[in-house]
Amino acid sequence: MALAITIGFPRTGSKRQAKLALESFWKGKSSEAELLAAFRAVDAEAWGAQRAAGVSRVALDGTHYDQVLDMVAALGAAPARFKHLSGLDLYFAMARGAPGAPALDMSKFFDSNYHFMVPELDEGFTPRPDFAPILDRLARGQATLGKDAAVPMLIGPVTFALLASTPLLPSAVVARILPAYAELLAALAGAGAPEVQLHEPALATDRGAAARAEYEAAYRALSGAGCPINLVATYDDLGEAYPWAVRLPVASLTLDFCGVPGAAIPNATLALVEAHGWPAGKRLGVGCVDGRSVWADDEAACAALLARLRAAGAADLAVTSSVSLQHLPWDITAETALPAKLAPRLAFAVQKLAAIARLASGAVAPASGASWGAAPVDSVQEIPRSMFDRAERFEERRAKQLQFPPFPTTSIGSFPQTAQVRRLRAQLKSGALDRPAYEALIDRQIALAVGIQEGLDVDVLVHGEAERTDMSEHFGMQLSGMVFTTNGWVQSYGSRYVRPPIIAGDVAFVAPMTVREFKVAQDLTSRPVKGMLTGPVTILNWSFPRKDLSRRAQAFQLALALRKEVAALEEAGCRIVQVDEPALREGLPLKSSKADSYLSWAVDAFRLCTTVAAPSTQVVTHLCYSDFGDIMQPIIDMDADVLTIENSRSGDAMVRALAAAGYTADLGPASASLTAQDRAPTTPHVHSPVVPDAAFLEAKLRSFLDTGILAGAPERLWVNPDCGLKTRAWEEVIPSLRNMVAAAHKLRAEV
Ligand code: GLN
Ligand code: ZN
Repeated sequence: MALAITIGFPRTGSKRQAKLALESFWKGKSSEAELLAAFRAVDAEAWGAQRAAGVSRVALDGTHYDQVLDMVAALGAAPARFKHLSGLDLYFAMARGAPGAPALDMSKFFDSNYHFMVPELDEGFTPRPDFAPILDRLARGQATLGKDAAVPMLIGPVTFALLASTPLLPSAVVARILPAYAELLAALAGAGAPEVQLHEPALATDRGAAARAEYEAAYRALSGAGCPINLVATYDDLGEAYPWAVRLPVASLTLDFCGVPGAAIPNATLALVEAHGWPAGKRLGVGCVDGRSVWADDEAACAALLARLRAAGAADLAVTSSVSLQHLPWDITAETALPAKLAPRLAFAVQKLAAIARLASGAVAPASGASWGAAPVDSVQEIPRSMFDRAERFEERRAKQLQFPPFPTTSIGSFPQTAQVRRLRAQLKSGALDRPAYEALIDRQIALAVGIQEGLDVDVLVHGEAERTDMSEHFGMQLSGMVFTTNGWVQSYGSRYVRPPIIAGDVAFVAPMTVREFKVAQDLTSRPVKGMLTGPVTILNWSFPRKDLSRRAQAFQLALALRKEVAALEEAGCRIVQVDEPALREGLPLKSSKADSYLSWAVDAFRLCTTVAAPSTQVVTHLCYSDFGDIMQPIIDMDADVLTIENSRSGDAMVRALAAAGYTADLGPASASLTAQDRAPTTPHVHSPVVPDAAFLEAKLRSFLDTGILAGAPERLWVNPDCGLKTRAWEEVIPSLRNMVAAAHKLRAEV
């Protein structure tokens, strides 16, 4: 027997109630009281589902927007620009911005696809705690679950410090916030909490492993606060931090025994426990039900794992998920359109709860001889090395590609997804439009996009992506081997939810996916139109992968399928093919020791997809959503002819880093943010659409030139926005592009 516990659950509601409540409140259609009532119902639904499944200690997950932002609010750590605000106004202003007060930055939460609000602490920061919302949550949890089952969950102090953007050292941040944490823990104990979860995923990263002194100081101080602590340190194994981390003075430690499905270097938690032992008297939370995977777990193997852990000296066990279940959709039984034989093999959050409870009850017989955490099957069909290389080197092939005047202009792919465009797709789906009628209307959108770009005198055109709902779904739906849910929503951030595709079998090319739209656009203009694909690594990183095959093998299958699309575009006369890899960095493991193997197959997958292009075909790639400063060499190794890179938030740091790393191919460093990136906003301007003026854009271009990159080859310095423009309105896009072209022409005239 073990304890069944949870460490987080979807905060969306089973039917996206949280999103709907937020949107109606933001539109002014509901009151604050109605919003709060809706969220109380969402919490009660989630907690009720956990109790019904037989979980005996339920983490009181639930948030109006983000759990890190909740901690910012609880600590009273709002930046000074929000001083005039309080309560929910303050909370949502930090999340979304307010007039004159841009939102906090947003960043990926460890290696998940969830994005959190980055705490911003200035030098003089002193906490002004407000614990009322956390205590209210505990009281509601106790009313729903009973006192023994309701466990508050908080971001731990060291992870909070390490996630913050601040000039202060982590040790200084920890020292300043510790008294507040201690006070909070005492208050929770006083209110009857049996324990508190402090989530410290940073412990699984290089920075966390280096923060031993901070961890020891923090937990020594908190151990006296009167509330037993369950330190939840998931998202990877603890690696070299394990020997000291397990000795931190806490009642329980909860660890990730699964890691990333299909990772090249498997999660080592079991090996660490068996090598270093487990301290007597401490509860071990066994995260063996895979919180990152939609596939049903091998419960017999989990039971065997529990037996091995007991044999290794861990007598007091709790069973839980490997990471918070917030990364999974709610309930597989809400899916009615999936292939019948697939559904029983899948498990969403509710099904994972049942697995946790079964394992904890001891009802599952352990598999005999099961090996836990072995490396995934990595069988890749024989691919000759030559398929990873272009036929000619960049310098040779560049001369055979289309030539342009200095500072050629282009854009990244998508144009405004207007209400009209979205309606077309909805009508196709509902059957109100048949395919020919739909395509004829899409073609009008393409003609509009081409006409506008010609009118603005852009050099390399795009068709505008009006037919795409989403840059990975559009491809996944046309490939074999991927399936799509109807209700499988997962929170990406705040009120933004996504439905990641599921890779359910071998992925293969079926028929051309983008050629029709390319041809329609190219037939309308004598200027070159770019072919536009999403790359294999991005499709993989935004999907739920298989568990029976390595991620590398799955990336190569996608690459081989997309390689056929590159060839099909070429055959249709396309001279420039763009393969977007905005999520390249998202798959990067948390520990640098695991990064190389990921980067090497990720780069290989991109090359496998693109090297089919003839020397005379220009291969473009586009990267965005993160800072790529630490992976310059892999980016160079992608061997694209043109790299367009989101650059607006790092000054020219990215361009300088590329120059320093010896980058020599064509470059399109975004001259300014023309977009408000919808998935992971990264710029302070994100919530306040701007039309950058020509003088600003010109200055930006000159600053790129000052970096010395591509000296003497201005015909290879591309001028383009930072990302696709699908979330913008034409009213912003047209003047922005006009100014961008004007800036390029100004510089062109000087050459
Ligand atoms: N071609 C895509 C677009 O323009 C690229 C989007 C992205 O990088 N996220 O929308
Ligand atoms: Zn982008």
